[in-house]
Amino acid sequence: MTRLQSIKGMKDILPAGAAIWQHAEYAARRVLEAYGYREIRLPLLEKTEVFARSIGTQTDIVGKEMYTFTDRDGDSISLRPEGTAGCVRAGIQHGLFHKQQQRLYYFGPMFRHERPQRGRHRQFHQIGAEAVGWEGPDIDAELIALVARIWRELNLDEIVLEINSLGDLEARNKYREKLVEFLSTRASQLDKDSQHRLRTNPLRILDSKDEKTRNALADAPSILDSLDSKSRDHFESLQQHLRAFGIPFRVNPRLVRGLDYYSLTVFEWTSDRLGAQGTVCAGGRYDGLVEQLGGKPVPAVGFALGIERLVELVSNAVKGPENPDAYMVTLGSAARRAGMVLGEELRDAGLRVVCHCGEGSIKNQLKRADKSGAHVAVILGDDELASGNCIVKPLRGENKQVTVQQPDVLAAVSAFVGTSNSETDKETNR
Ligand code: ATP
Ligand code: MG
Repeated sequence: MTRLQSIKGMKDILPAGAAIWQHAEYAARRVLEAYGYREIRLPLLEKTEVFARSIGTQTDIVGKEMYTFTDRDGDSISLRPEGTAGCVRAGIQHGLFHKQQQRLYYFGPMFRHERPQRGRHRQFHQIGAEAVGWEGPDIDAELIALVARIWRELNLDEIVLEINSLGDLEARNKYREKLVEFLSTRASQLDKDSQHRLRTNPLRILDSKDEKTRNALADAPSILDSLDSKSRDHFESLQQHLRAFGIPFRVNPRLVRGLDYYSLTVFEWTSDRLGAQGTVCAGGRYDGLVEQLGGKPVPAVGFALGIERLVELVSNAVKGPENPDAYMVTLGSAARRAGMVLGEELRDAGLRVVCHCGEGSIKNQLKRADKSGAHVAVILGDDELASGNCIVKPLRGENKQVTVQQPDVLAAVSAFVGTSNSETDKETNR
């Protein structure tokens, strides 16, 4: 029989890796909450229409990357390829945007049928934030400062910020015409995808990674020259805020986003430690989207941060999973029951405890205890049970084992955990 394998582009995150994920996610969560963002949890499946109407039918995502199928009721539904559309759908549905402003964030898996490669998977994960109800540019700048703080929390100092403005719809349409006019005379120099996009989504050509296309774009008109004065003021003020925050940035007039719903501010954070897929976080303003999905018009801005790429950046800087404090070694069924109850009491006090389950001689159990990385073994057999004692045996460092009365186990374990922690600290400082 062939062995079952995970689906191409969908990765298992094993326990050692999950510890790094938790570390990165926890840092991001703390930062988001420090700025007043609150978590929203959304379904992984939405009606296909939610994405078609927001992201745009001509985009790569909706056109060829989405996992779409007909369910048993005959409805077309899709696995979410990103979080903004569902978040806006939920906000409208529950009246969250009615006369209120919202700072929202979410975590979770997204699905796109792309060609799997380093930093590009078919199930991947994002941390996303959306600020709905503010016109900016102050909130745009705050959102960028928030991301900068996530990098600082994780000691990532090489991620660089690029910003651009796409202007309002009118400015963008004007620019689109200029760009199409410019590129039409150079169509033969473009890669095939870009030739197609010339008719469907010309702005996206600016984002092409193809070298020939990039050369053809060398003298292309800049979108910044097409901005209306309001958009220009917005962009200028955003830059003043960023300077005041001391956040370095580069204005890149070629920066566009793959999704249709962006306007005004767009930004991207990239690292050259990630190979070809260097963008860790991308976002921007999407003032038209709430109305487009059937709500009253409200301005909004957000970002999405790719957790796989973030984890790749932080993976060197993080310790492995936390070891248990104690491993409970028990001999005989009465001692097993008493030991498992004692385990509960130690956990009540905040310790991490693994209780041996199943068969095992004392030698075998102590071997497991050592392998678990626990600081101490707590040993309980029939003799100990009869006399109300326990043996607490340090598994790291030089300390000798002690026999204590059961009510004193917590104190004994905590004392040993304290000393062996400081020894580990010394080792890691070395
Ligand atoms: P890219 O240009 O890398 O395809 P995108 O413009 O499609 O990115 P967004 O939709 O803006 O990406 O998603 C935001 C972030 O989510 C990206 O910057 C990236 O970190 C991450 N991301 C997007 N697609 C994938 C994927 N297939 N696998 C892993 N991470 C992804
Ligand atoms: Mg993409």
